[in-house]
Amino acid sequence: MPYRTRSPMGSPYGYRGRAAPRRGSFMGPRLWIGLAIVGFAFLSYQCSTEYNPVTGEEQHLSLAPQQEIALGLQAMPQMMQQYGGEHPDAQAQALVDRVGQRIVAQSDAAKTEWQYDFHLLADPRTVNAFALPGGQIFITAALLSEIETEGQLAGVLGHEVGHVVARHSAQRMAKQQLTQGITGAVLVAAGGGGGEAQLAQMVGQMVNMKYGREDELQSDTLGVRFMSQAGYDPRAMVGVQEILARQSGGQAPPEILSTHPSAPNRIQTIEAAIAEVYPGGVPAGLQP
Ligand SMILES: [Zn+2]
Repeated sequence: MPYRTRSPMGSPYGYRGRAAPRRGSFMGPRLWIGLAIVGFAFLSYQCSTEYNPVTGEEQHLSLAPQQEIALGLQAMPQMMQQYGGEHPDAQAQALVDRVGQRIVAQSDAAKTEWQYDFHLLADPRTVNAFALPGGQIFITAALLSEIETEGQLAGVLGHEVGHVVARHSAQRMAKQQLTQGITGAVLVAAGGGGGEAQLAQMVGQMVNMKYGREDELQSDTLGVRFMSQAGYDPRAMVGVQEILARQSGGQAPPEILSTHPSAPNRIQTIEAAIAEVYPGGVPAGLQP
């Protein structure tokens, strides 16, 4: 039998006394599984593409709009608590509501399915405004007290509506899932261990950071567009930047400045957006 002639006397070594090549040994099964996981993560990221009619972009998303709204509502109580809860001044709350609802009712944001709510938070020290996925939008009393005109308030809220409409959180989450898929694959391929787990966590955190610089500039551009459509003078958005620049000397940077593209860069973007909305110059009679 040929088998016997190749392995005489039952030697543990194979043919010609060399170690017999193990099947598939040039790539271990762990590596194959790892590659399959990476492939699957990429495939599901690439396949979950949706067109955003307001921004005109193809986006990678892993959440349905209803899930996104539910997620934001779920996160809301904790976020509000962090900033002292709802402000007790009903009149100031009503102002934030009125300006916010005017923006979403009279701009392209009205064409979207998000559930917009505007909240004034009691925190008197932290200058901040932020949006949760799905449409919950917040401004602190500290920021409101710095604001000089209704148009500036419209600028802040318009910027946050921009984050919601552009679905920046959902896009980050889709990217994070992609990263988790890849780091999971790295762990499988490496056979696990403490060092790899730390590496995986680090990569995850990197992608899970705050909005990127591009997201901030896009929200500025969308904010300018939305506030203009609602009848506010978009030049008030430049005033908002000046207020935020004054504040950035403080402790934690506000969301709206979190990954700050430098102020001159933002003002340039805002001015370009204004020129796009009003190519012939900003008309008179808009609300400052
Ligand atoms: Zn922002």
